[in-house]
Amino acid sequence: MLLTITNDVAPGSLHAATDLGYLLHKNPTRAHELKLSFGTAHLFYTEATASRCTVCLLLDIDPISLVRGKGRQDSRDVPYVNDRPYVASSFLSTAISKTMGTAMSGRCKDRPELAELPLNLTVAIPVLPCRGGEVLLRRLFEPLDYDIEVTSAPLDERFLEWGQSPYLNLRLTKQTTVAELLSHLHVLIPVLDDDKHYWVAEGEVDNILRRGEGWLAGHPEHNLIMRRALKNKRDLYGPALERLAVVDDVPPNENDAMIESIESVSERPGSLNERRLQHVVKTLKEHAVHRVVDLGCGEGRLLRLLLDDQQFTQISGMDVSQSVLKRAARRLNLEKLPRLVRERLTLFQGSLVYRDQRLCGYDAATLIEVIEHLDAERLSTLEKIVFGFARPDVVIVTTPNIEYNVNYIGFAPGQFRHDDHRFEWTRAEFKEWASRVGTEYGFTFTHSAIGDEHESLGSPTQMVVFRKVNATEIKEVNP
Ligand code: SAH
Repeated sequence: MLLTITNDVAPGSLHAATDLGYLLHKNPTRAHELKLSFGTAHLFYTEATASRCTVCLLLDIDPISLVRGKGRQDSRDVPYVNDRPYVASSFLSTAISKTMGTAMSGRCKDRPELAELPLNLTVAIPVLPCRGGEVLLRRLFEPLDYDIEVTSAPLDERFLEWGQSPYLNLRLTKQTTVAELLSHLHVLIPVLDDDKHYWVAEGEVDNILRRGEGWLAGHPEHNLIMRRALKNKRDLYGPALERLAVVDDVPPNENDAMIESIESVSERPGSLNERRLQHVVKTLKEHAVHRVVDLGCGEGRLLRLLLDDQQFTQISGMDVSQSVLKRAARRLNLEKLPRLVRERLTLFQGSLVYRDQRLCGYDAATLIEVIEHLDAERLSTLEKIVFGFARPDVVIVTTPNIEYNVNYIGFAPGQFRHDDHRFEWTRAEFKEWASRVGTEYGFTFTHSAIGDEHESLGSPTQMVVFRKVNATEIKEVNP
């Protein structure tokens, strides 16, 4: 069983490809060996230059120990001859955490700054069992934004009539941190394999939630991932899914009360929030939109207004936070809505940083006071997903205008309007972003003001309306 991870570094970079050795806490000039209950893990490098470094994890599984040795998992129906020594399975997942656990946790003793650095990583897994085949494999890795290459070999080249091997040869490429890559592999390899023979170790739920932190809750296949990872044991995956929603939830904001008064988040007629939403609805109507997805819908304030207007025939609200969605369902009185109204609305949990088919097929997407909640480095992923992948005809984005903040009494210089805001932009910065995104993905845009305008500082909220250009030279991102 073999897994390789390659780090490629462009010429002139400040970092050497062999920095991978620091991250893995394994010197590239040496071979490393670790005894495990089911065999031996060998870790060594086949290439270690400044521009390219490849680490191999070779797992030598002892098939006898699986059946009767210490590493036995469930001997009831494991035959002595089985595929486990040759394929990527939960044993590989265990070996990853035993040999590269510190790197997977995102810690790096000697060079802590390296752990945060996205690298150009390529993973090769030559023999991957995958129940559900390539389709499932893509459903698991595409939302995580990997470039995927899958091939399979004939069972026997001399007897082509026997057909293709059910095992896949997989190559994944992504610019990401080693910690994120290892966490994805650690959780998803056993899910693909879906082997019924191993038991779920005590603490497995905690392990998956820990390794899935930051990406699993919003993954469109999180139900399937949890169910398979926990061997379809309902008593385990049911509560685990509930915890998943809580673990990845957006923390309650201590300053909510203050922000309410500042931003007038109430639905009072004439409040900034109300004006913002009315403005968005008006713009959607002007663009003859019928199908809308509200990304980061929060408690569903915009959804409420859209439901009241018959022009909007298909309305969806997506948010990363399960508890916010529950509040939305309550506020919208979902259970009691008349059937015809109810049928126009869908709420779903998801994240703006995943390629998720559920984001496709709308005339418009709205991002109302959402982008500023994303870390700056995640914003480029959001761009790819919304403008490159989902590609609705119209995208409406609103965000605070930071220039206006000096009008708020008691605001320290540089203070944002919300604790969870990662940035706030001036009008020039927002326009600059819109212009770059528009050029890159083929959208024109208009920038406008929402709320009372100050002559030099502008308005409290700013809005950009993107319109897709149907030109052939538009950069398309393959779904
Ligand atoms: N649009 C709503 C809520 C704005 S608050 C309104 O105008 O009232 C920002 C919302 O974005 C929160 O509900 C938060 O849970 C959601 N959010 C933050 N990061 C997200 C992500 N990566 N994917 C989807 N939603 C996200």
